[in-house]
Amino acid sequence: MHTDLVAALDIGGTKIAGALVDGHGRIHVRAQRPTPAQEDGESVMRAVTAVLGELAGSPLWGRADSIGIGSAGPVDASAGTVSPVNVPGWRGFPLVERVREATGGLPVELIGDGVAITAAEHWQGAARGHDNALCMVVSTGVGGGLVLGGRLHPGPTGNAGHIGHISVDLDGDPCPCGSRGCVERIASGPNIARRALDEGWLPGPDGDMSAAAVAEAARAGDPVAVASFERAAQALAAGIAATATLVEIDIAVIGGGVGKAGDVLFTPLHKSLADYATLSFVQRLTVVPAQMGTDAGLVGAAAAALARKQDATGAGV
Ligand SMILES: [Zn+2]
Repeated sequence: MHTDLVAALDIGGTKIAGALVDGHGRIHVRAQRPTPAQEDGESVMRAVTAVLGELAGSPLWGRADSIGIGSAGPVDASAGTVSPVNVPGWRGFPLVERVREATGGLPVELIGDGVAITAAEHWQGAARGHDNALCMVVSTGVGGGLVLGGRLHPGPTGNAGHIGHISVDLDGDPCPCGSRGCVERIASGPNIARRALDEGWLPGPDGDMSAAAVAEAARAGDPVAVASFERAAQALAAGIAATATLVEIDIAVIGGGVGKAGDVLFTPLHKSLADYATLSFVQRLTVVPAQMGTDAGLVGAAAAALARKQDATGAGV
């Protein structure tokens, strides 16, 4: 049979999404289950198996010959295991082996969700045509991934480019990861909102205390809301500039809920970037919003499976 499709899984703390995807990144069949994140590991695995079972019920399933998984991290691609922070029942869980068993032995490629988003933006989105890129997701947490020399660079365990836990404030607030002053500790949505509230920002009559509400207030000119986004932008700029100086990226792509804030984020971000990205070889660095929508994780997981297939056969996809 003509095997022109791959199966993709996008595993997060709230949902497990699956799809059959073709070589152009088009999604043909979808399946989804909520993640029973607070239940034991086997219950979470049953939700994965249910998604795979629904995909396998499609007449197109026989055209899929490999599986790509993008999972909330940390992941360990070298061991085939995952330990998502928001899924306590999975610690060192052998996801690759279990998915292989559930699908009759198909080859499985595992990457972290930040790397998956990066694969998607490089293939179809804002980083398309860029050989050296950093792609970030700025939402509840801050994640990311790298494209270097025209190829996805997941690193040995699948976590490379995890910019959220680079320290940009040496003596800053403790971060849940154990370090201090991490980009995430300053720039994530909850931290933007927390800082605004601490500094005296008052939510509107609807009581919405999210980063999106702070963004709305910043657009309306609230100085505390503006300052909270400026501080987040400064942390992101410092992390992006450090990355560019280290590995010479020429574009940084910012997605996730905070990435949708628009000018209240990007105007101070461009300004701060000029302060931190100073050497001649990083001055042409640009920062742009992400283009991929909610399917980025699935499309990126598919890209990883297709890249593996290409490496295995030497053929183009
Ligand atoms: Zn951290």
